[in-house]
Amino acid sequence: MERTHIAELGKLVGKEVLIKGWVDVRRDQGKMVFLDMRDVSGKVQAVALPMHIEALDVAQRVRPEWVLAVRGNVNKRPEKNVKQGVENGDIELEILSIEVLNEAETPAFDISSDGREINEEVRLAKKYLDLRRPRMQRNIKERHRVIKLLRDMLDAEGFYEIETPLLTAPTPEGSRSYLVPSRVWKGTFYALPQSPQQYKQLLMSAGFEKYFQFAKCMRDEDTRGDRQPEFTQLDLEMSFVTREEVMRLNEALLIDLVKTLFPEKKIQETPFPIYTYQEVTGKYSSDKPDLRKDKNDPDLLAFLWVVDFPFFEKTGEDNIDGTGEWTFTHNPFSRPKDEHMGDLIEKKNIASILTTQYDVVLNGYEIGGGSIRNHEPLALRRVFEIMGYDSERIERNFGHMLKALGSGTPPHGGIAWGLDRLLMILFGEPNIREVIPFPKTGEGKDPMMGSPSPADPSQLMELGIQFKKVQ
Ligand code: ASP
Repeated sequence: MERTHIAELGKLVGKEVLIKGWVDVRRDQGKMVFLDMRDVSGKVQAVALPMHIEALDVAQRVRPEWVLAVRGNVNKRPEKNVKQGVENGDIELEILSIEVLNEAETPAFDISSDGREINEEVRLAKKYLDLRRPRMQRNIKERHRVIKLLRDMLDAEGFYEIETPLLTAPTPEGSRSYLVPSRVWKGTFYALPQSPQQYKQLLMSAGFEKYFQFAKCMRDEDTRGDRQPEFTQLDLEMSFVTREEVMRLNEALLIDLVKTLFPEKKIQETPFPIYTYQEVTGKYSSDKPDLRKDKNDPDLLAFLWVVDFPFFEKTGEDNIDGTGEWTFTHNPFSRPKDEHMGDLIEKKNIASILTTQYDVVLNGYEIGGGSIRNHEPLALRRVFEIMGYDSERIERNFGHMLKALGSGTPPHGGIAWGLDRLLMILFGEPNIREVIPFPKTGEGKDPMMGSPSPADPSQLMELGIQFKKVQ
């Protein structure tokens, strides 16, 4: 007999079916046993009755989270037993036989609640269990729907989805890179990408014109509620576009996404208001203000754009990218506004050079940012010079970019969305860990896999690595 998904049972009243899934709840009433059965599609109440004595025997033995194959008849419930508003509340599965596919230890914690009362480290240590709770099932399935919709929308707009390497060289996004030692080339390291920034620009050089990717980005920075060592961006880049065109396309994507998948949400203002960095910081003392008129309304979405950021800022103590007095505020590959290109090339009035950067902010969180890029090699070279890189370092780190820009690269620009942050807001979750299938703790640990962990001495030997205590 073929397996039927639980969500289909409502249409099969009077039929014999085979379902496969987990025991969600078990109520033993002696003469009969109720098993609420759960699979990926839904839940149904099943009942083992004395007239099917073998099935009743097994039902008395099973426990929550055991995995069963249950054969039974789909019956309509008598009127008085119908549970309004409950999934499959009008039917019941009369169990004919039970096959135990796997037993289960008693779950280490309650998986039927929303889980907020459980210590997070405990949840993460058994994430496969934690993911069974309805809230997590909903978040992860909804995440899939968001990604699928965005993918389809971008495909319809003529974008190509193109993967880029994870083992690469450092690309500056204002953070530290994770390094991966090479065994073959001892003493050398790959870096995990902080973003696909350079590759996506190289794809524009290569002539693909419209690229996107759901990209994993790795940044070695201190974790916070809305940050993780690795996170997902919806990354995109387009050739022959203006700042306004990129902003318009992204605004349309965001609005369509909300309207299609989150119809209960209300966007406070469309088109999204656009503020300059100066206006927004002057008015709200923040470059990512929460503009919601009613902050108690969980369904209100206040988007805004922030533009005209300063290109450079003075190097702070915690800055790790520059050697000089200046560093970039957002992205070294950004193009300045046209009226500031002269100053960039001449390296003067540095503090007042504005970039074509645009950030999109939602309810007080930066959910995306991008810019039009420098497509002429000289302008990019000037950025690194202002940051205090000498020509040898520029050549070593960015020679390939300068070469690519000098080999027929079209004007281009793009953006990346922090997908996890966006989902966190749309799902009404307090932090991004609740929307990521396998997140790390706030301290960057994965208690389930036990990472990070010391490497095996033989592995270190193969890599030619020896530890020395640094005082
Ligand atoms: N690569 C940039 C970032 O990760 C986004 C962009 O400018 O497209 O912030």
